[in-house]
Amino acid sequence: MKLIDGKKTAQDIRAEIKAEVASRTAQGVRAPGLAVILVGEDPASQVYVRNKERACQDAGIRSVPHRLPASTSQEELMALIARLNADESVDGILLQLPLPKGLDADRCLLAIDPSKDVDGFHPESVGRLVQGLPGFVSCTPAGIIELLSRYDLPTEGKKAVVIGRSNIVGKPLAVLLARPGRFGNATVTLCHSRTADLAKECREADFVFAAIGRPRFVTADMVKPGAVVVDVGINRTEQGLCGDVDFEAVKDKCSAITPVPGGVGPMTIAMLLKNTLQSWRQRLGLC
Ligand code: NAD
Repeated sequence: MKLIDGKKTAQDIRAEIKAEVASRTAQGVRAPGLAVILVGEDPASQVYVRNKERACQDAGIRSVPHRLPASTSQEELMALIARLNADESVDGILLQLPLPKGLDADRCLLAIDPSKDVDGFHPESVGRLVQGLPGFVSCTPAGIIELLSRYDLPTEGKKAVVIGRSNIVGKPLAVLLARPGRFGNATVTLCHSRTADLAKECREADFVFAAIGRPRFVTADMVKPGAVVVDVGINRTEQGLCGDVDFEAVKDKCSAITPVPGGVGPMTIAMLLKNTLQSWRQRLGLC
């Protein structure tokens, strides 16, 4: 069994980004800029935002924090987004979700300039992904494909089951896996809470991607011997953090697996930095 080390891979990607930024800025090019908007006091969001800001700093990306009180009005938030859209030094805009009650996240996401949509949540980015056009891909599914590629686990011609149909993981991941290419070209089955026989679907799969949000939901009897198992879940239990896959039981049956923590999670931030780098290159004509 091969352990897919997302922590190490994310470190490698962050080092590559850091090297590129350092070499360009040494030539006088301005550093990439990521604006990070956090509204309210949600403790988990504060941790996520702090981690993202720290990762930016490490890579030489200028992170521009905008911490707003939970009492912020929709109009104030829309005005901030409009200012950041117009700011030439900002390459990416990240709106940390969820927003406090009373604020309309969809309206805010729609207001972000798609050319700065480094989270890949804007409907234009999603539309581009579905049509196979260039654009930002949301960070968690992009990180999963990057892991498959760096570990050389091609999905081409294979059966892939994605469990979970969220807009941020399951749906975009299913689209990516069905795209042409060595780490695409899979025959994809998108499973969800109304799937009739989930265990059977999983047992037929060469690749299982679990994005459900239920601790140890995928058990060994659901996995075909030799399958590749990617665990997106982050569940806080009394015994600590665990994924959507029963890692201890599944690890001896599959050919490769991502652990939780240290699998898909660290890749999400690395891909946010990568998307910001991509936007910066495009804006400054550095491609
Ligand atoms: P979500 O909570 O929006 O949706 C869960 C999905 O699971 C739904 O589509 C639902 O149909 C499916 N589901 C629920 N119960 C099911 C069942 N019994 N059988 C089959 N399908 C079922 O999901 P999300 O936002 O994609 O998050 C999923 C998990 O991934 C969570 O644990 C979340 O914390 C984690 N996550 C991790 C990262 C990361 O960076 N590693 C990023 C995003 C989400």
